[in-house]
Amino acid sequence: AHSNAELLKRREAAVPRGVASAAPVFASYAENAEVWDVEGNRYIDFVGGIAVLNTGHRHPRVVAAAKAQEDLYTHTSFQVMPYAPYVELAERLNALAPGDHAKKTLLVTTGAEAVENAVKIARAATGRPGVIAFTGGYHGRTLLTLGMTGKISPYKKDVGPFPSDIYRAPFPSARDGITVQDALTGLRNLMLTDAQPERIACIIIEPVLGEGGYVPVPSDMMQALRALCDQHGIMLIADEIQAGFGRTGKWFAIEHSGVVPDLITVAKSLAGGYPIAGVIGRAEVMDAMIPGGLGGTYGGNPVACAAALAAIDVIEEEGLLDRSTVMGEHFKTRFAEIGARSAPYRMWDIRGLGGMVAVEFVTDFATATPDADLTKRVVAHALKRGLVLLSCGLHGNALRIMTPLTASDAIIEEGLAIFEEALQ
Ligand code: PMP
Repeated sequence: AHSNAELLKRREAAVPRGVASAAPVFASYAENAEVWDVEGNRYIDFVGGIAVLNTGHRHPRVVAAAKAQEDLYTHTSFQVMPYAPYVELAERLNALAPGDHAKKTLLVTTGAEAVENAVKIARAATGRPGVIAFTGGYHGRTLLTLGMTGKISPYKKDVGPFPSDIYRAPFPSARDGITVQDALTGLRNLMLTDAQPERIACIIIEPVLGEGGYVPVPSDMMQALRALCDQHGIMLIADEIQAGFGRTGKWFAIEHSGVVPDLITVAKSLAGGYPIAGVIGRAEVMDAMIPGGLGGTYGGNPVACAAALAAIDVIEEEGLLDRSTVMGEHFKTRFAEIGARSAPYRMWDIRGLGGMVAVEFVTDFATATPDADLTKRVVAHALKRGLVLLSCGLHGNALRIMTPLTASDAIIEEGLAIFEEALQ
């Protein structure tokens, strides 16, 4: 049997430090909202593989669907000999996505790849190069998506230059005193100073900022973006990679605003632990690229397609959208209680949409100065006591809830008790 220390040593020698791990322990087994390490220690999982496991680790129906597919074929490449699960998943996603217009779906493998393809499609459809993204946004680690990602350290540090024609607009922030009005003024000014609107292909936004701190886009802001896009013939892309598939209590977080985007990027909890991602969009926009212009050897892998179809069934049949809303309210209430009991540790701005909840730590309430150091220590102490947590935010001072929506109330309570202990 392995020990964590031995594996850590081998990992340090064999794997670049650039791929950092939040936990210094190695997984051996996982089930629903629990993980065990190679030394048999048990952890409650509030991270779900970074928002991938809304249906939990190894949901029996997801695993059974993947295994059944493995017994038929695991790969032909959709570009060589297509297969039904890809088509079925595309149909399913087209029906789930907001808007009653005709839709089509491209399947790829990772979130970054989905974002890359959404931009390619928007460029081909509009004949324009420009991309507008937001402060604190996260869209991936490939060079185009890094250019769009709005946070330098650690993602963008020392790897530029990034592709041109990417512009950055402000994201509303209570802590920084940036209102929706300010953010929209910033965007309109951007369109007067640098980003010529008729040269802009797309505006891409996460309906709830993910890596950037679990900050929902206010509905009036989303509606204003839609109006601006309509006015200038710009594609509105909702990056739902982290917020989608029930995390916010709806299939897609943008549904909370009533806004219908032109393109949606999806990944993560779409397939309950299998690598697959996609772009869902207006049929005529999705058809902008010529045959052969889209794809990739592994895009829409059949095993992952089968898993995704099962994960969607599970979200539907187990009522996980409603569960997410209830769970989110519960986390907010409990965070407020724990916050009240745990001064001098300042928990500020408990926020979120549905089960996509975060809490920020600050050094003092008056200045709301981010406390990344405390956040790090809480994560480390929680792990030692058996709870996996992950931080987020432009300042690294927020803790985010990505707990499987299938987690029992008892497990959540146990996790929250560990969180409070770690905080104390
Ligand atoms: N967009 C968003 C909103 C994300 O949260 C992420 C992943 N954290 C990505 C894109 C990139 O996805 P991937 O890591 O699968 O490339």
